[in-house]
Amino acid sequence: MASVDSPKMDFTKFHNTIDGKLTTTPTTRHGINPANKEALAEVPVSTQAEVDSAVAAARVAFKKWSKTTFDERSKALHAFADGLNNYKEEFAHLLVTEQGKPLFQAKGEIDMAVNFLKELSSLELPEEVLEDTEERKILGRYLPLGVVGGIVPWNYPVLLACGKIASSIYTGNTVIIKPSPFTPYCSLKLGELGLQYFPPGVFQVLSGGDDLGPMMTIHPGLDKISFTGSSETGKKVMESCSKTLKRVTLELGGNDAAIVCEDVDIEAIIPKVALVSFFCSSQICMMIKRLYVHEKIYDQFRDALVKHTEALKSGEGHTPDVFFGPIQNNMQYEKVKSLMEAINKEGVKPALGGKVEESKGYFITPTIIDNPPETSRIVTEEPFGPVLPLLKWSDEDDVIARANDTKMGLGASVWSKDLVRAERMARQLEAGGIWINSHFDVSPRVPVGGHKWSGIGSEFGVNGLKGYCNLQSLWLWKK
Ligand code: NAD
Repeated sequence: MASVDSPKMDFTKFHNTIDGKLTTTPTTRHGINPANKEALAEVPVSTQAEVDSAVAAARVAFKKWSKTTFDERSKALHAFADGLNNYKEEFAHLLVTEQGKPLFQAKGEIDMAVNFLKELSSLELPEEVLEDTEERKILGRYLPLGVVGGIVPWNYPVLLACGKIASSIYTGNTVIIKPSPFTPYCSLKLGELGLQYFPPGVFQVLSGGDDLGPMMTIHPGLDKISFTGSSETGKKVMESCSKTLKRVTLELGGNDAAIVCEDVDIEAIIPKVALVSFFCSSQICMMIKRLYVHEKIYDQFRDALVKHTEALKSGEGHTPDVFFGPIQNNMQYEKVKSLMEAINKEGVKPALGGKVEESKGYFITPTIIDNPPETSRIVTEEPFGPVLPLLKWSDEDDVIARANDTKMGLGASVWSKDLVRAERMARQLEAGGIWINSHFDVSPRVPVGGHKWSGIGSEFGVNGLKGYCNLQSLWLWKK
C-alpha cells in the first residue's frame, strides 16, 4: 500500500475511518482550543450504527489480517510510522491547538509515537518451546484475540493511540480507536493516514460523545478493550467488559511519590525534578505528584525549586519559550480550581502560586505547596494540573510508608548519590515503575503498568504485547 501518490491530507476537515472510507455523521460537534476557548472544527458524533459498521468491518478484516506474518505487519506499521513522520509538523500544530501543550512538547510526542510504532513492531514474540523430549514437544503460541477497542485520554492523544495501534495490529488483531471527546482531531487524522497503509477494517477511528466508550465496552463484537484514563472510569470499563468477558488492559491514574535524600546536589537535580513534575502542565499519569524532601535540605530545596519554576513561562503553545500550556479542558480546570480552593480552606501554605488568575484560556498558575498535612486533598488526590505538594521527611522507614500509603501505584522514585541506599529504598516502593535519580522514563521495550488502583496488565514491551494475545499450549506427541 504505497503512500507516494496519495493526496496530501487536509488538516482542516475531520472524518471517521470506517471500512477503508472516510465518513461523517448527521450530527457533528466541535472541540475547544484550551488556550483561548475558541471553537475548533466539526467532528463526527458516532452512534450505535457507526460502532456496528466498524465492528463488522473489523471482524471481516481480522480473518485475513490474523493470517499475515509478524514481518508483514511490522513492515506496514513501519511504513505508517514513516507516514506520520512525514506529517510531523501538521500533527504537532494540530496537537498544540487541540491539547494545549507547547509546540516542543507536541513535536516530542509525535517523535515518541513514531518511535513506539517502529520499536513495538520490532519486538519478538515467537512460539515458546515449553518442553521438548523424545515423546513430545509442547509449544506456547501467542494468537491474536480478534477486534480490539482502544480508548484514549486527552493528555497524550497521539502517543497513547499509537501504542494501542501498534500493539493490536502487530499481534494480528484489528483495532478501533476512540479518542477522548476533548481531543479527537489528531486521532481522526491518524485513521485517515492509516488508509494508505492498512487494508480496510484493520485500523479504524470513531469520534463521538461520552456515550461512545460504553457502546464499545458492552459491544459483543469486540474481544478486548485497551483503556487509558482515570481509575474511576477504569472500574466502569471493567464492569461493562465483564458482561462479555472481554480482555482488558487498564492504564489508570497515579499519585507518584518521589523521595529526595539529603545527599543530593540540589542545584543539579532541580531542573530535572521540575521537568518531571510539571511537564505537560502536570497532566501526565506518571508525573511526580508528591515530593518528599529530607528535612536537612528542605528549605534550600524548596527555595531553589520555587526560583526555577517561577522562571518558566506560561502561554499559548505556539508562543516561543512557553513551558506551561493551559489545562486541557473545562472539566479538569474546574477540578484543579477546586483543589486550589481546598488549599486555601485547609490553610496550607503555597510557596509559589496558590491563586487562579483570570485568563483567556484554562490557565492555572504553577503552584508549590509548602509541607501540607499528609491528609490534605492536594496530597491524597491526583491533581492532574501544575500543583505540587512538597513534604518533609526524616526517617527512611516512615517516608517509605507514607509514599506507599495510597490506593495508587503507578510510579515512584528515589533521588540520592548513595546508590546502595537508593536501591534499598526503591525496592520497597509499591508501584509498577520505579526510578533512581529520575522519573517518567519510558521505552517501547519496557512494560508500563500500575499496581493497586493504577491499573491491570501492562502496555509496551513483550509483556504488553502478550496482553493482546490468547496463549495457546500446543502438545505435539511424537509417537
Ligand atoms: P477519563 O477516564 O475521563 O477518560 C478516558 C477515556 O475514556 C476517554 O476517551 C473517555 O471518553 C472514555 N470514557 C469515559 N467514560 C467512559 C465509560 N464509562 N466507558 C468507556 N469509556 C469511557 O480520563 P481522562 O480525564 O481523559 O484522562 C486523565 C486520566 O488518565 C488521569 O487519571 C491519568 O492519570 C490517566 N492516565 C493514565 C495513563 C497510564 O498510562 N496509566 C496515561 C495517561 C493518563
